[in-house]
Amino acid sequence: MRFLVTGGAGYIGSHTCKALAASGHIPITYDNLVYGHPWAVRWGPLEQGDIADRERLDQVIKQYQPEAVIHFAAYTYVGESVQDPAKYYRNNVVGSLSLLEAMRDHGIPYIVFSSTCASYGIPEQIPIPESHPQRPINPYGQSKLMVEQMLRDFRAAYGIQSISLRYFNAAGADPEGEIGEAHNPETHLIPLVLDAASGRRPHITLFGDDYDTPDGTCIRDYIHVSDLARAHVLAVEALVTHQPVQAAYNLGNGQGFSVKEVIAAAEAVTQKQIPVQIGARRPGDPPRLVGDASAIMRDLSWKPTYTKLAQILETAWLWHQKQPYQKAV
Ligand code: UDP
Repeated sequence: MRFLVTGGAGYIGSHTCKALAASGHIPITYDNLVYGHPWAVRWGPLEQGDIADRERLDQVIKQYQPEAVIHFAAYTYVGESVQDPAKYYRNNVVGSLSLLEAMRDHGIPYIVFSSTCASYGIPEQIPIPESHPQRPINPYGQSKLMVEQMLRDFRAAYGIQSISLRYFNAAGADPEGEIGEAHNPETHLIPLVLDAASGRRPHITLFGDDYDTPDGTCIRDYIHVSDLARAHVLAVEALVTHQPVQAAYNLGNGQGFSVKEVIAAAEAVTQKQIPVQIGARRPGDPPRLVGDASAIMRDLSWKPTYTKLAQILETAWLWHQKQPYQKAV
C-alpha cells in the first residue's frame, strides 16, 4: 500500500519508511527538509513540501493517491518551544490542521500520529498508562495534545480514523547502520554521551544529580527507534484492516534507566571513559518518566525487541562511528 509519511526524512520517520518497505508498502516522504535529511530517504520517493502548504500537499496527494498518512512532521525541541511557542503552534498545530483538512477533502480516512509522553506532564503514577491525565508543561507537549484533540473531533465529524502513538525516549539506530540519529542541534542524551565517548565533545553535562531518584539523576524509558518504527507499521495496518484499536497507545520499554546508568552502560559498550560534568537541572524535566505499553502489546501484538539498554546503545554506537569525525560545537 502507498502511505504518505510526513517528516519521513527525520529520525523516527526514516526508520519507519524502512520498516514500511520491509513489509511491502511504499512510503512517500513529504518533508520540508528543515530538520530532515535527503540521505535518510531511501525506501520511496521524496517530495519536498511543508504540511502548511495546502497547494503542494494537494498536488502530492493527487499524484500518489496514498491510502493512509503517517504524520511525523513537527518541531520537537522542548526548550525552543518555551522560548518561541508561536513557532510550535504554527507548525505543529496549524500545519497538522492543514494536513487533516487535506485528508478530509481527498477522502484519505486513516492517520497514525506521532505523539509524545510529554503530553502527560508531571506523572502522578509510574508506569504511566494511556488513561493518565494529559497536562503538558511545555508548548511542545501542548501542541501534540492539541493535535490528539483535533484527531478525536475529526474522527467524530468526518470519520477519519486515527491512532496517536505516545513515545517515550526514542533511541538507537537502524541495526544495519543505514540510518540513525542526526539532529542539528543535538540535545538528546545518548548521541551527546557518544560524542563525549569519541572525543567529539569534551564531556557530557549531567542536568542535575539531586533528584528524588535512587542515584539522584532523572529516569527515562528508552525505546529503540526500530521498535517504534514497527509499531507504526502495525498501527497503520490495523487501521486499514479495521481492527479494533484505541485512539492512543504508549510506546516504551516499560523500564526506566537513570542518566548515570546510561553513561555507565555507554562506557561499557564503547570501552571509553566518558568525562561527566554535573550541571544544573534542565527546566521542565520530570524526575521519572516510564510508560506502560501493555495496551499496544495486547491489541497489536507489538513487543519491543531491544529490551536491554546495552543493545540500544550498541546500535547507536555503530551509527555514531560511521559518521565523519568532526568536533561538535
Ligand atoms: N540529559 C542530560 N544531559 C544532556 C542531555 C540530557 O543530563 O546533555 C538528561 C535530561 O535531563 C533527561 C535525560 O537526559 O533527564 C534524557 O534527555 P533527552 O533530552 O535525551 O530526552 P527527553 O527526556 O528530554 O525527551
